[in-house]
Amino acid sequence: MAKYKQTEAGNGQGLFLSINLKEQLLPGTFEYMLDDLIGNKIDVSAFDKNYKNDDTGAKAVPPPALIKLVIYGYSRGAKSSRRIEELAKNNIIAKALTKDIEPHWTTIAGFISGNSEIFAEIFVKVLAYCSELGLVGGQTFAIDGLRLPSNASMGLTGTAEELEKKLGVYRKMAERHVAKHRRHDERGETDKKTEKNYQRQQKHYNRQIEKISVFLETMEHREGKRGQEIKSNVTDNDSAMIMSSSGYIQGYIGLSVSDSKNQVIISAQAVGSANECEHLPAMIDQTLGNMREAKIKKPKGTKQTMLADKNYFSEENLKACEEKNIEAIIPDSQYKRRLGENGKMRFEADDFKYHEEGDYYECPHGKRLAYCGTNILGGSEGKVYQARAVDCRICPCFPQCIRSKKEQILIDKGRKIRITRSNENGSLCGALRKKLNSVDYQDRYSYRIQIIEPVFANIGYCKGLNRFSLRGNDKVNGQWQLYCMVHNLGKCLKGYNTEKGYA
Ligand code: SF4
Repeated sequence: MAKYKQTEAGNGQGLFLSINLKEQLLPGTFEYMLDDLIGNKIDVSAFDKNYKNDDTGAKAVPPPALIKLVIYGYSRGAKSSRRIEELAKNNIIAKALTKDIEPHWTTIAGFISGNSEIFAEIFVKVLAYCSELGLVGGQTFAIDGLRLPSNASMGLTGTAEELEKKLGVYRKMAERHVAKHRRHDERGETDKKTEKNYQRQQKHYNRQIEKISVFLETMEHREGKRGQEIKSNVTDNDSAMIMSSSGYIQGYIGLSVSDSKNQVIISAQAVGSANECEHLPAMIDQTLGNMREAKIKKPKGTKQTMLADKNYFSEENLKACEEKNIEAIIPDSQYKRRLGENGKMRFEADDFKYHEEGDYYECPHGKRLAYCGTNILGGSEGKVYQARAVDCRICPCFPQCIRSKKEQILIDKGRKIRITRSNENGSLCGALRKKLNSVDYQDRYSYRIQIIEPVFANIGYCKGLNRFSLRGNDKVNGQWQLYCMVHNLGKCLKGYNTEKGYA
């Protein structure tokens, strides 16, 4: 019978191996690049100002080791500080990055939640490196937001009145609970297990009552655009109730502006807001500011373009783009509907001509639409003008003018148009609507998806970010900037390897 070599490790015995940690980082890999860039190419000395242990206090974990560990953890889908701590203990690559320092998860959590401003600085340095590798075009951008839940309790959201009601419910539940326990006690029905459950439940009620009462004492009333009270959240009042693809969530929108050349993120910001529309001007400022800091120049003789979906369509946003000399291509909510079947355009308010004298509109068929009142829809005021049914009934253009099939059969009412600030003659919205009717603009807009959506697919799906684990806008913003940094570093890998000759 053949004899084979056997080792003690084969019998399940432990081994002591001599390992050179530096050799574990192989050229050509993400972790090799990360180890090389942090500290050498990307200056992280800004963290030093947080440490004041020159003379007294214990030695701290070096910030370069922490930032490398966190970036490596996020790139591997480790979202929580405890998972990152596990990596530092058990993963040889993580050990090589930290030089065998094993920070406790509380140190990691403190580092992530306490350095949002420095992460923003480092984000720009990473962006500058992307630009150095020739990855940034600086001409066409797309903006969008990733809606994610955060570490906030959805059940503790409401207006002051709703929260008062919730407090009352918890108080009643706590009283009932005590009464029930007393009854059980009197009958001698309590044992150790039920006593433990009782204590746990009582503790929970007391905690919720205290939380809501303290919050209500200091709560500030916030008003929305229409004067309605904005709902507050007891656990994280910076977060907002947001409509997402999976229903309502309590969380934040991670906004990103991505460059068309290689989907590098130029600016990133997490906002606790139900609507992302109002944040476009600030994101444009941040984008231009980051580009200036990272010394990214736009190609000469060209105009920068910002692509965004219909959620960003507003007169204010278009004005903000115009002021910064950026061409905005943002469709309105009726964009697809207006195109109609077989690319045949539908008549919209812009196709009707206004006559100031007599305050009426003239339709493309030359008929008059008379003013018939003002209404408010979705918070915006609009003037309504209507044609006569007799005119529309015999009009050869009515299939192009009147949309619904039912109305086309009946034609019992004339065509109505609603004039708001965004479609009145001379508005930027009206001008953009007209532009978007051309094939050239439609083609340019079609690039939006391929510029911005891969960014969210990478962060959300590949890196596994499906919720923010922190509370407070500042901290959540820091976490979002870190994930965007991980995305940008991933983009650098190919260029870095080519530059160093590892490709
Ligand atoms: S359907 Fe009525 S409003 Fe429309 S173009 Fe014809 S006449 Fe004018």
